Amino acid sequence: MRDIFLPLLLPATVVLVVLMVLGTPGTVLVAALITMAGFVMAIIASRDSVQRQLQLLARRTRGRAEGTPALPSSSEDDTLEEVANLAGAIDSLHAQLNSQNAQLTQEARTLTAVLDGMIEGIWVTDAEGTVVRHNDALREMLQPGSAGITGQRPLALIRNEELNDAVMRACREGSSSRLELTLEGLFPRTLAIRVTPLGKDLPGSAAVFHDVTELRRLEKVRKDFVANVSHELRTPITAIRGYAETLQSGALKDAEMAPKMVEIIHRQSERLSELVEDLLELSRLESREVQLKIANVPLAVAASRAAETVKPKAAGKNIHVELQLPPTLVARGDERAVEQVLLNLLDNAVKYTPAGGRVDVFGTLEEGRCVVRVKDTGVGIEPKHLSRIFERFYRVDKGRSRDMGGTGLGLSIVKHLLGAMEGEVKVESQPNVGSVFVIFLPVATAKAASG
Ligand code: ADP
Repeated sequence: MRDIFLPLLLPATVVLVVLMVLGTPGTVLVAALITMAGFVMAIIASRDSVQRQLQLLARRTRGRAEGTPALPSSSEDDTLEEVANLAGAIDSLHAQLNSQNAQLTQEARTLTAVLDGMIEGIWVTDAEGTVVRHNDALREMLQPGSAGITGQRPLALIRNEELNDAVMRACREGSSSRLELTLEGLFPRTLAIRVTPLGKDLPGSAAVFHDVTELRRLEKVRKDFVANVSHELRTPITAIRGYAETLQSGALKDAEMAPKMVEIIHRQSERLSELVEDLLELSRLESREVQLKIANVPLAVAASRAAETVKPKAAGKNIHVELQLPPTLVARGDERAVEQVLLNLLDNAVKYTPAGGRVDVFGTLEEGRCVVRVKDTGVGIEPKHLSRIFERFYRVDKGRSRDMGGTGLGLSIVKHLLGAMEGEVKVESQPNVGSVFVIFLPVATAKAASG
């Protein structure tokens, strides 16, 4: 207020002096008029100054709110104390808002980073069930078209009434639900979904999508495995028990039948023991119990040992087995394991090749790896089975495999053994033409060679 009354001080003093000097009534009137005019001028001048300062303050505040470069603060020396105080309060409010804003931005960025870092897909909907936010994982899972995910209704993204109902229930009734669904397509995916309301004072819902495809596949593999093992064991056991009982109940005295039955019992018990051996080997490999002795393995030696074992079977079917492996081809691996791999592949080649065919084994060095190809002129494998034949108990033709004495575990063992030696196995095949199983192993190192 000092700034308003200061300008009034001068005319008031002048009037006072004139009054004192002249002391006449007419002059007093003139002096009073002069004083009033001075008052009015002072008030107008003071109001203009306040208006100017307030306008400048308003412009500065608006400019800050809109983020335009800050205007300089009032350059007038006569800035009113009240205006200056107001400007100070606005400045401190602005600073406070700025810091809260920065904090909120930081929190929003952290939330986005956490959501996008998650394996689970997430979407958030508004009260009407329209998706308003989602993370990167969900985009990966749903692979939406150009329309994207935000702004879409659940049914437009996933054609599933159950999910749509769950979202609407969460939005309207505030209830949570869990469901599982399969997204069809080239690679079908199984999703376990949990839908929850956002909160009491927060309308809308959130859904978390967990991809359980692999989990469900493994569960199925485990269940199939148990079922397969029981079935595989039951077949020879049933045969052994049946023939043993028949022998007990008199057939033992049948000089013609008895030796045949004993022969079957013997064959089935051998099959049983092979099955148990393979199962044990596989379980040891899977639990990494097998201690491999990694050393240099000359592949020509390993292949010729394996070929020796299958020779009688090959000769019985008049199948020609030929080996072409340079003696210099030396892999890094476990000798027994490499031999086992080659034996399983040669055994299969002979098993699935009709009489009179041939089996060739080639060894080469390719791109710094030892490569062995076991090629046959057998029944071949249809493309749809190729990716599955390395699974436990998977057989293209169950009957034929069993007739040939197969356990359905040979290729699975091959895959595991090679995996343990940093190698791998591939297959190429053409039905009724033949198959080529290709194994890759690391080349022997100079250090191991001298050791
Ligand atoms: P099996 O004991 O039945 O031979 P494997 O695990 O060794 O079990 O092989 C799995 C399946 O792959 C076999 O049942 C057979 O259908 C197919 N298979 C393996 N090797 C060959 C081959 N050389 N030619 C044709 N089919 C093969």
